[in-house]
Amino acid sequence: MRLDYFIFILSVILLCSCEFKKIDEQEYENGPGTAQDDDTSEMTNPDVTKDFLLGKFDYRTDSRFVLMDKKWCDKEIYLQKKTYDAFVKMAVAAKKENIDLIVVSGTRNFNDQKTIWEKKWKNNEKKIKNARENTLKILTYSSMPSTSRHHWGTDLDINSVEEDYFKEEKGKKVYRWLVENAHKFGFCQVYSDKNKKRTGYNKEVWHWSYMPLSNYYLDNYVKNISYSDISGFLGSESAKQVDMIKTYVQGIDKSCSAISVESDKEK
Ligand SMILES: [Zn+2]
Repeated sequence: MRLDYFIFILSVILLCSCEFKKIDEQEYENGPGTAQDDDTSEMTNPDVTKDFLLGKFDYRTDSRFVLMDKKWCDKEIYLQKKTYDAFVKMAVAAKKENIDLIVVSGTRNFNDQKTIWEKKWKNNEKKIKNARENTLKILTYSSMPSTSRHHWGTDLDINSVEEDYFKEEKGKKVYRWLVENAHKFGFCQVYSDKNKKRTGYNKEVWHWSYMPLSNYYLDNYVKNISYSDISGFLGSESAKQVDMIKTYVQGIDKSCSAISVESDKEK
């Protein structure tokens, strides 16, 4: 009787140790997990991925971006920290000459731009059935998702996006100051007069770009982005038809490309 009891206990111990061994082996075979695929391996700078260039990221959680102090904007606006620092230097200098500079639009990512674009697309679609025509109509006033410079946190709209504001004395004074001084802080009016042999978007006197960063991103965009990358919104297939990259993305004032990191150091 006692021997039977001993054999029973021994069997239970052996069975348990076998089960534990099985679990150990299983864990070992599964390993610590496999690395995620990185589809940005072709890019040389790990911070400048295709998704970044196309605006497919969240600037609210990206460590390069900062929320602007309310003192310098009229709503919640994010910019890249380098753009923000340069803007504040410029705004402080302007204030000494009684010019107030306020940012009314800064970083807008792919999703922000897609919301604006698709609202207009659906509205136009009631009258315009041709995708190319609908695209060209929207491009008069808005940029296409994945092709906007506002994605990069380098471009900002100053004081107003209404032409009337810049026709009045106050607006004229602000614009004159910017034309004379913005380049000293690295900023340039990329959408200048079309008679400067520039293609693409209409003239925007309020839109200024921080060139030491945006020149670099534009260069990377042209080298790495193709029409197959511009997708995920209504009418995206028309990007190629209207030659978005060459005519619009590259359609900036040529003199702006002369403003580089070097000129930023001169300040
Ligand atoms: Zn703008």
